[in-house]
Formats: sequence, C-alpha cells, structure tokens
Amino acid sequence: MKRGIQTHHMSTASDSENNMSLCANCGKGEEAGINLKACAACKSVKYCTRDCQIAHRPQHKKECKKRAKELHDEKLFEQPPPDEDCPICMQRLPTLAKGKVYMACCGKIICCGCTHAFQSRATKKEEDICPFCRTPMPDEEEAIKRLNKRMELNDAQAIHDTGTYYAKGVYGLSQNYTKALEFYHRAAELGHGTANYNLGMTYHTGDIGVKVDEKKAKHYYELAAMRGQTDARHNLGCFEEQAGNKDRALKHFMIAVKDGSSTSLESIKRRYEMGITTKDVYDEALRSYQAYLDEVKSDQRDEAAALYSKYY
Ligand SMILES: [Zn+2]
Ligand SMILES: [Zn+2]
Ligand SMILES: [Zn+2]
Ligand SMILES: [Zn+2]
Repeated sequence: MKRGIQTHHMSTASDSENNMSLCANCGKGEEAGINLKACAACKSVKYCTRDCQIAHRPQHKKECKKRAKELHDEKLFEQPPPDEDCPICMQRLPTLAKGKVYMACCGKIICCGCTHAFQSRATKKEEDICPFCRTPMPDEEEAIKRLNKRMELNDAQAIHDTGTYYAKGVYGLSQNYTKALEFYHRAAELGHGTANYNLGMTYHTGDIGVKVDEKKAKHYYELAAMRGQTDARHNLGCFEEQAGNKDRALKHFMIAVKDGSSTSLESIKRRYEMGITTKDVYDEALRSYQAYLDEVKSDQRDEAAALYSKYY
C-alpha cells in the first residue's frame, strides 16, 4: 500500500469538541437558529439542549476537567491588578495593612504617609480630621455608627472590619465568632481580599470556632490571592511546596514578591541558598521587590514608618 500525505480531512473527537458553532453531541449548528449553550465548567464545548449535554458527558468528562483546571490556573497565576492609589498623594497604596488607613467617614483608604502628615500638622483637636473629607476623627461609639452606615452601602471594607471587631471583641462589641464569620463571608462575597484571606486562615488553623479544612482553606486563599492578598498567595506557595510542586510554589512566591511580600522573598532566598533555585530567579525576585518598593515609597511614608513600624 502506498503511504503518502493524507489529503482528506480526518475528523477526530477533539475536532468536533473544539468546533464552537456546533453542538458537541448531535452536531446541530447555530445556523439552524439553535441557541447553543457553552459547558459552564470548561467553556470549550457547546450544546443545543441539556439532554445533549447529559448524553455527551461520559465522553466529555475527562477533557472537561482538564480544561477547567487549566482555565482556573490561568486565572490563579495572573499577576493581580495593584491596589488603588491613595486618593491624597495619588501614589500606589502599600500592600501591607499597616501602611494604610480605612476612613469610615467617606470609605476612602488613605496611605500612612498622608494620615501621618495630616496628624502631625494638627495642633488642636478640631484639626484632627479625615484628610479626604475633613470629617472630625470619631470616638469609639461614633466609629461604629459610621461603619454601620458604610455597611448599609455594601462597603466590603466596612463589613470586613466589623467582622474583625467581632472576632477580637473590640470597639464596644462583645466577642462573637459566629457574627465574625458572617461578616467575613459577606465581605468575601463582595470580593474583599482580606476577608477571603481571613476565611482561609480560619479553615487553615481552625481558629474562631471552625473545623480545620485544608480544601476550604485553599479555596479561600485562592480567591484572596487573585485579589492581590499576598499573605494568602504566600500560604498557597507553601501548600504547593509541601505537596512537592516546586514550580507552582515558585510561581506563587514570585507573584507575591512583585506585590511586596518580604516573606515570599525570604522563601525564594532560602531556596537559592539551598540550591533549589537559580541565582537568576533570586535576582529577578530581588529586582521585583525593589520595583515594588520604588513604587510605594515616599518621604512622607518613610517618616511615618520611622515613627511606627514596618509599612511596606
Ligand atoms: Zn445537540
Ligand atoms: Zn466541559
Ligand atoms: Zn497618600
Ligand atoms: Zn473621610
């Protein structure tokens, strides 16, 4: 028999699966006026009816899971967009929680440099006001009132902060873990990074009265990490490291370093010293960390940091 180049088209399973204008099961097309719906998990095949989707499931299942995992990883390992800039100095906000202050009067997050500069200029109590909206600083009772008002507006930061006050039992609120979790969940659903991190931490360590559940911890850490929460990202790196997935661990650490995580930088340094990672990788991490510092540092912020503690 003569062996030559195949000139006729050989159709394969993956060909039909990748044709997004045909039902992956029965082959009916969009041109017939049928509204095809994509598989919600993998978004790489379409079906004309639910029955077709069910009929095709045994054959599609493996590919679907694989593709869904790839899609998830693509999102997970993307560098998250940076935090908003400080509305006063217009410079990128530091990632570290200590480097910024939430103002429940106007809902703005202001950098430590700007709040410090403002407070150090105030000579009288009347001058101790919000640098953004100029509302006087609140006492404890007023602070909670303002938070409640912001919560009515579905402000995720206010909801998260209230959760933390319940977890700690401060600001005149009695310690209540059930309520703390409720607020964290609410803020997390609104996409709040730290609320997702706190939930992850809770399931990771079993604190504030929940059962340890590593799968759930990972789920919330992932949501937090995709929102730029670097502690969550670092912990994911540690999970991967423990599971022996060195490449995935390094990817997480590197993304966290780019957003200013000194803990992840330490991890990469340790790997370099142990000969697990190359000097090039460590150098890249050092450069990325410096680039982050250059972006968030200012004289004003340095002054505040010198007085208090680490802000970047
Ligand atoms: Zn069909
Ligand atoms: Zn699918
Ligand atoms: Zn500022
Ligand atoms: Zn304000």
